[in-house]
Amino acid sequence: MEIKKVGVVGCGLMGSGIAQISAHAGYQVVVSEINEELLNKGLVLIKAFLSKSVEKGKITEADKDAALSRIKGTTDIKDFGDCDLVIEAVVENMDVKKKLFAELDKICPKHAIIASNTSALSVIDMAMVTTRPEKVIVLHFMNPAQIMKLLEVAVTVLTNNETLEISRKYGESVGKTVVVTRDAPGLIANRLLCGFLVNAINMYDLGVATREDIDAAIRLGLNHPMGPLQLADFIGLDTVCAMITAVYDGFMEQKYAPPLLLKKMVTAGLLGRKSGKGFYDYQ
Ligand code: NAD
Repeated sequence: MEIKKVGVVGCGLMGSGIAQISAHAGYQVVVSEINEELLNKGLVLIKAFLSKSVEKGKITEADKDAALSRIKGTTDIKDFGDCDLVIEAVVENMDVKKKLFAELDKICPKHAIIASNTSALSVIDMAMVTTRPEKVIVLHFMNPAQIMKLLEVAVTVLTNNETLEISRKYGESVGKTVVVTRDAPGLIANRLLCGFLVNAINMYDLGVATREDIDAAIRLGLNHPMGPLQLADFIGLDTVCAMITAVYDGFMEQKYAPPLLLKKMVTAGLLGRKSGKGFYDYQ
């Protein structure tokens, strides 16, 4: 099966990026939102990103126009009726995703692959509400999808080899380096990141070292661009807490237990850069 038309459900942060790179790679793209206002907001994000790429000399004006001409925005799920691959990038909520998978299963052609961009939810649960669990897979793009080189492709216990190979080919065609893993909480990158952040936050809470010294050790000693506490502030402590909680719920292993300090900071509205204060003060 050759993928010609890609559907993207949700035109938020991730969906807009996935739609954009798919169109740039030459696919016909249909991207949906729950209403016209959010759809326009998402399409504006795509145009703005492409315009910036033209300004930076990364693509030409003609590339931008060609990519935009291949993207169709919609608020009608029936428009996924002729897609070969549909990638959902809606809110990280299992009930919402399950309902969507059941609807997509009825609308999409029998040969179509249905993928989720979930960060930590179990995709076999989504696959089982469809009549084609062997064609359900995880395509986990990193944020921002337009820039980050990695694509984690995760198979469930029922995903077949053809689905994996077509997904791998699609990922490479949109310029990503594909790594393959099982559908397990956090996949590879976020699972390792969660353990790392939990350890760093607990170390700080126990007074083993100052926040500056913990971050400097990782930046200068391991050559990471940011230390773990800086990174947690950058991602947003609410997002970090949700991700760690999902991985902990999946494995029930103490090493992933959400740190008490992190939970208290989230409750207090100390969310990192976005709220002006987290482990560091940004005001
Ligand atoms: P977001 O809130 O920016 O976008 C989600 C969008 O989906 C919203 O605009 C919402 O209106 C829309 N939506 C909800 N239900 C819909 C429906 N039924 N049909 C069409 N649109 C619908 O969220 P995001 O950060 O783009 O995350 C989306 C998914 O990607 C989540 O599963 C998240 O875990 C995953 N993800 C996020 C990141 C990240 O860093 N933000 C990275 C990798 C994966």
